[in-house]
Amino acid sequence: MNYARFLTAVSAARQPSPIRAMTDLLMRSPPTVISLAGGIPNPDTFPFKAASITLNDGTAIEIGDGLMKKALQYNSTSGIPELVSWLKDLQKKLHNPPTLDYSPEKGQMELCVTTGSQEGLSKVFEMLVNPGDNVLLDAPTYSGTLAAVKPLGCNLIGVPTDQHGIIPTALKDILSRWRPEDATNPEKNSPKVLYTIPNGGNPTGASLTEERKIEIYQIARKYDLIIVEDDPYYFLQFNKPWAPSFLSMDVDGRVIRADSMSKILSSGIRIGFLSGPKPLIDRIILHMQVSTLQTSTFTQIMTYQLLQKWGVEGFLKHIDRVIDFYKSQRDAMLASADKWLTGLAEWHSPSAGMFLWIKIKGVPDTHQMIMQKAISNQVLLVPGSAFNTNSSEPSSYVRASFSLSSPEQMDLVSKMLQ
Ligand code: PMP
Ligand code: PLP
Repeated sequence: MNYARFLTAVSAARQPSPIRAMTDLLMRSPPTVISLAGGIPNPDTFPFKAASITLNDGTAIEIGDGLMKKALQYNSTSGIPELVSWLKDLQKKLHNPPTLDYSPEKGQMELCVTTGSQEGLSKVFEMLVNPGDNVLLDAPTYSGTLAAVKPLGCNLIGVPTDQHGIIPTALKDILSRWRPEDATNPEKNSPKVLYTIPNGGNPTGASLTEERKIEIYQIARKYDLIIVEDDPYYFLQFNKPWAPSFLSMDVDGRVIRADSMSKILSSGIRIGFLSGPKPLIDRIILHMQVSTLQTSTFTQIMTYQLLQKWGVEGFLKHIDRVIDFYKSQRDAMLASADKWLTGLAEWHSPSAGMFLWIKIKGVPDTHQMIMQKAISNQVLLVPGSAFNTNSSEPSSYVRASFSLSSPEQMDLVSKMLQ
């Protein structure tokens, strides 16, 4: 892979911050090293002393005086080393990326902790997307992604999807405007980036099948695309075995995968992680060195203490409980839709995530309908247009999230949509 051709001028110009490099060095040094180097505040002056965090099972995570000092302090930009190492082992177990043992000329896989996957994704876009670039993405797609990418001045090309995500033949059709060799000719402006949500897509609830992923990966090879795999609902796949990820198929080092703890541990602790080719992840880390500096050490330590206590097995057991919850919520949502909306609307049963994507028959634009219903009934749904690359384009869909409501409330909403 020639990663240089994918980088924006801003990203390519990033230089390591000498002081952050020293902080990283200090974190890896034995505690006996006396450092007068970093501008590190003295934690003895901080007002927080210790913490005990009670878990749902009645046990607790103890953060005593010593660990608390660490939790309140700066740490490595890429994440506290013990959490990074735990997450690397997890990625190896779940995805076993072929790039893990890469030869030096192809670049190794790297992982960094981010302040939620959204931070990682926005930095990925700023690294890869130049004004005027053609960027491929699921149509429709997550509004947070649209908000991050649009201001970069690129041209968004929505790739048609169905309940199984991106339709490979549609992707081929779009790319047939270019020849594979155009990738090396900047004047041809062939797309360089394909962004996709492979499981329980936001807003459509769609999940790519393994066959489609294999086909899409081959297309990405042909046209030399980087695949940005935004997979926050990976752990909310209702059926086992889980579909293999793009990362698991990535023989070239062309996949950047964004994972998130938001839907399984907490959305407020802001922990996500990026996995991908080292030359690209290193650019993201340089960006973090001048922005967040790092994800909160406190939430990283809290997360690591939990994961270490659980082990991978305990973590996956927790995931099973989360899946059971969302699956029964999904079933309740489907039951209420069946009861009130049969014949009036169309939907498919999502196999992952927390969204039902409902097409209201005979309503070309759901925006106004939602506004009226929201005011009169105090019910909120998102109109489909919010997820169009061009948000002024109308949509006959609404997105219903079944994460928070009770079956009774879902029933009420479905009835109201009649
Ligand atoms: N600005 C200046 C001048 C600083 O010295 C520092 C900390 N070394 C920062 C910003 C970063 O501060 P924070 O940890 O709040 O991001
Ligand atoms: N990507 C998608 C597709 C999402 O739906 C969300 C959250 O709604 C995010 C990213 C952001 O996740 P995080 O909380 O990890 O930043």
